[in-house]
Amino acid sequence: MSDFSSLGLSDWLIKQCKQLGINKPTPVQENCMPAILEGRDCMGCAKTGSGKTAAFVLPVLQKLSGDPYGIFCLVLTPTRELAYQIAEQFRVLGKPLGLRDCIVVGGMDMVSQALELSNQPHVVVATPGRLADHIRSSNTFSMRKIQFLILDEADRLLEQGCTDFTKDLEVILGVLPTKRQTLLFSATLTDTLQDLKRLAMNKPFFWESTSETRTVEELDQRYILTPEKVKDAYLVHLIQTFTDEHDDWSIIIFTNTCKSCQILTMMLRQFDFPTISLHSMMKQKQRFANLSMFKASVYKILIATDIAARGLDIPTVQVVINHNTPGLPKTYIHRVGRTARAGRNGVSITLVTQYDIHLVHAIEEQSQTKMKEFAVEEKEVLKILTQVNVTKRECEIRLESTDFDEKKEINKRKQMILEGKDPDMEAKRKAELEKIRSQKRKFKERIQKNIEGQKRGELKRKFKSKNIKKKTKQGTD
Ligand code: AMP
Repeated sequence: MSDFSSLGLSDWLIKQCKQLGINKPTPVQENCMPAILEGRDCMGCAKTGSGKTAAFVLPVLQKLSGDPYGIFCLVLTPTRELAYQIAEQFRVLGKPLGLRDCIVVGGMDMVSQALELSNQPHVVVATPGRLADHIRSSNTFSMRKIQFLILDEADRLLEQGCTDFTKDLEVILGVLPTKRQTLLFSATLTDTLQDLKRLAMNKPFFWESTSETRTVEELDQRYILTPEKVKDAYLVHLIQTFTDEHDDWSIIIFTNTCKSCQILTMMLRQFDFPTISLHSMMKQKQRFANLSMFKASVYKILIATDIAARGLDIPTVQVVINHNTPGLPKTYIHRVGRTARAGRNGVSITLVTQYDIHLVHAIEEQSQTKMKEFAVEEKEVLKILTQVNVTKRECEIRLESTDFDEKKEINKRKQMILEGKDPDMEAKRKAELEKIRSQKRKFKERIQKNIEGQKRGELKRKFKSKNIKKKTKQGTD
């Protein structure tokens, strides 16, 4: 393995790395950094926790030190928390340069962000929605001279998932120079490779880790097969076991909805576990505060939706529990990648119901690994089953008495307004669409019935004429 200086990295940056305990390049750094320093576009696909951020931060800082001006580099990333994490790496490694960065994310004060942008920071780290808003509403800053565009978690930024970034990306790309270096990184790039190739223009260098598996060897991947009704009792039992045996471990539990995240947090708190949550219905300041407290181990258990699935780098996380089996293998790969980072060990446990077995097969096929069963004393779980289910029901009732659902509805309407849609018209359109769908369904059912009726009639007729032929034959005999 080469060292940083043989990759062409300057002494001041090598010194900065050493101060952070980064002594030898990881494979993604070793392979991508020379290409970036040469001026090529680059796509790096490396496993979670393998040092992708430094693989782009270091060469950008090196180039910036040669010709420092603002705005030199733009990094886009799908979540607000990740934007802060990336900016921190720029700040720490770029300290000797007096690097000025600016974080542009939703949920935070737009005026102060606009002011910072107009002061021409060297690096802007942004989520696409808020940056596009600034571009649409202000002309006090220019991105015409940026040298680097970096898409971190590039596949997520380009896919059309529940948060669709494509329109915002169009706005952003429209104000960037075509002559620039474009760098794309993720642990799951291969699905969207064609889209990505279109974005990176000057003969991109593509590097993917050669290992067959998509998850790291240090990760012990387990599952527990459980009926839906016993799932929460398993969860409580697991947390109890881990906290009894390892008081320095932190645990992330992933769940599929904000509401479930909220209820599970309330439930675990009832059992006196130091639990905190992270989901998109929380105020941004609360999101940051909760994450900081979890990072500082004030709370050892974080219950999160998939907004925490990608990129977050928290060394104390030893266990990831999937309260629901993820529907997409790549979501699984990113979720379990919150542990076993930078060569450390970690465990992931996925709670699997009888309806999720096909999902496990899909995950195993894509990650090229096999999950092993996690042994649990079932007797112990059954002992707490009633108490857990009653507590959870109480929490559900408590949450129903708050305005949680109402807030969700308001958030949805706000989002529609921001997207330029009329929420009432949208509701009408949805209702009409549903009406058409149900008419279509009924029509299909009617046709199906008619076809079946016709088939039955034909069969009857055939049967009858056969019988008649038989009888006339018998008569003539
Ligand atoms: P990332 O995949 O960028 O989130 O990085 C995961 C962790 O690895 C972070 O805590 C980095 O500080 C750390 N890291 C990055 N590069 C190296 C390296 N060359 N050697 C050891 N640790 C590293």
